[in-house]
Amino acid sequence: MTSLGTASAAPGEIDTGRLTVGETRDGTTVGLPVAVINGATEGDTLYVQAASDGDELNGVGVVSRFVPRVDPAELAGTVLVTGIANYHAFQVAEHRNPIDDTKLNRAYPGDDRGSSSERIAHATFEAATRADMVIDLHQGSTSRMINEVRVRCGRHHRLHRKCLELAKVFDCGHILDQKGPEGQLARAAPDEGIPTIDPELGGCVGWDEESIEYGVTGLFNVLRHYGYLDGDHQPGPQTRAHAFDRYGAPAGGLVDYRVDLGDEVSRGDTLFRVVDPFGQVKAEITADNDGLFWRSRRLPQVATGEYVCSVGTTIDTY
Ligand SMILES: [Zn+2]
Repeated sequence: MTSLGTASAAPGEIDTGRLTVGETRDGTTVGLPVAVINGATEGDTLYVQAASDGDELNGVGVVSRFVPRVDPAELAGTVLVTGIANYHAFQVAEHRNPIDDTKLNRAYPGDDRGSSSERIAHATFEAATRADMVIDLHQGSTSRMINEVRVRCGRHHRLHRKCLELAKVFDCGHILDQKGPEGQLARAAPDEGIPTIDPELGGCVGWDEESIEYGVTGLFNVLRHYGYLDGDHQPGPQTRAHAFDRYGAPAGGLVDYRVDLGDEVSRGDTLFRVVDPFGQVKAEITADNDGLFWRSRRLPQVATGEYVCSVGTTIDTY
């Protein structure tokens, strides 16, 4: 038997249950929805989680489509899944946990006597560190963003190559290879010797079917490449960025983009203009460096200094 919380599956079986992480304000038990897919034959363990940020729902879409499609009779090894990690934020469709106003993905490896987010981080980190590889499904929040996979351990980490390989096998076409902030699962788990990636499945409000499909396909690519399922997956070349240039609005008004997500941009190209409500151009913003148009705000209206877009820079092919 393999268990995660109350989910317990014998070889060749799947079970779902709850992973307890304390109580709500009315005393109700908080149980994260979890699944165990126990393969009929022995093998490695993959840990997958979704909704670390409560407004990032594409990962929930991926898990809800992926789990029913994995046949434990054909699986070698085990898949452990936390379907909704940021329980409290998910309830109110917000990014951060409203109980402690914390971003869960800054709380790893967590603390079982700490804040609400630290306790969730601790419980999910215990599950994640039972695995041989970890996939933490995110998206560019409600911004518009390309589909990409993040490697967050940093290029000097001993697991960098293995994380990068996992990112390539997931095969979204784009990789961001940049050391992440403290407290990210994709930084804490590699410190425990576990290759970890953070797929960023586009960016939307609600569900984006194309991004969800990238995620489902990515998980099956991983299962096949690493021998959990028969078959193989040979990933194609990935466009890799090592950093972002972030652009804000120099004036208030409406943003008029001159490039689309995924476009290559050269230094000096116009990225966007800010126009007034009558279409008069107030400002024109050009690229500081060559790169790839990676992410942009969703709403057109901006105040001076507000975030507008990001360009991935120092691009190569991996
Ligand atoms: Zn996220």
